[in-house]
Amino acid sequence: MGKLLIVGTVAFDAIETPFGKTDKILGGAATFIGLAASQFDVDSAIISVVGDDFPQDYIDLLTDRKIDISALEIVKGGKTFFWKGLYHNDLNTRDTLATELNVLADFKPVVPKSYNDADVVMLGNLHPFVQLSVINQLKKRPKLIILDTMNFWMDNALDELMEVIKRVDVLTINDEEARQLTGEYSLVKAAQKIFTMGPKYVVIKKGEHGALLFHKDQIFFAPALPLEEVFDPTGAGDTFAGGFAGYLAASEDSSFENMKKAVIHGSNLASFSVEKFGTERMLKLNHKEIKERLHQFKRLTQFDIELQ
Ligand code: AMP
Repeated sequence: MGKLLIVGTVAFDAIETPFGKTDKILGGAATFIGLAASQFDVDSAIISVVGDDFPQDYIDLLTDRKIDISALEIVKGGKTFFWKGLYHNDLNTRDTLATELNVLADFKPVVPKSYNDADVVMLGNLHPFVQLSVINQLKKRPKLIILDTMNFWMDNALDELMEVIKRVDVLTINDEEARQLTGEYSLVKAAQKIFTMGPKYVVIKKGEHGALLFHKDQIFFAPALPLEEVFDPTGAGDTFAGGFAGYLAASEDSSFENMKKAVIHGSNLASFSVEKFGTERMLKLNHKEIKERLHQFKRLTQFDIELQ
């Protein structure tokens, strides 16, 4: 069994989609990553911070799934990171209405001793300073460091973000962010430019249009499952990243061939995440459903063609 160290926000989200809206519910990049990764045979731990306004019930949801939260700091008198998003009718685009860093603003992460030799480190979305500090505390170079980030950090901490990008093996990023980071419209050119920044692998997420994996001159494409119900895309990217990282940590194989499978597992889990608000669907997921959908993925992408 591999060890997976996860860094990212544990948050309150308020979400509005064409189908309804929520008050503050459980969210955060590390939450979605942890829940997705817990579907695999991995030991995982989350490094993050919340305020003492964060309900114990939410913390229990993580520990119920055997996620180590000894490095989830609870700041007395502090307020938890808060994000508010509004989705447009196509559900592929959203406006961020609020990003309140709160306790995240002064967070000094501490890598638990039992995880400073992690096999895979998944640097989820949060301040690049925190991501860098975690890399610097590791005693041993992990087999794989995966980074996920978003436009907020490109706009607010680009220099620090570039330092992190330099140090990672895989960058997962969505299409618009890849364009913003590189100034390239073509995603192939964008991936090539990202290679020059450090990562050897680039995954570009395209929402309902699937995901692309790039390595040297190889490209792999995984579709997103065409779904009848897409209710709330929040956390789909993180769920993808959690499935990707969780599968790689569990299988202890970071070859390109195995990464293709990891992309499918990530896409598969993300397809569930969007069916309900927030983490609701991920909390009720079982292995049978996951397996059935993997079969659907296979049927969707397999075909015979005669080539001479
Ligand atoms: P995704 O839909 O995969 O991009 O992720 C949405 C999740 O990311 C939400 O649960 C938010 O709490 C969290 N989030 C939103 N903005 C940020 C940010 N700037 N840094 C870290 N996490 C964020």
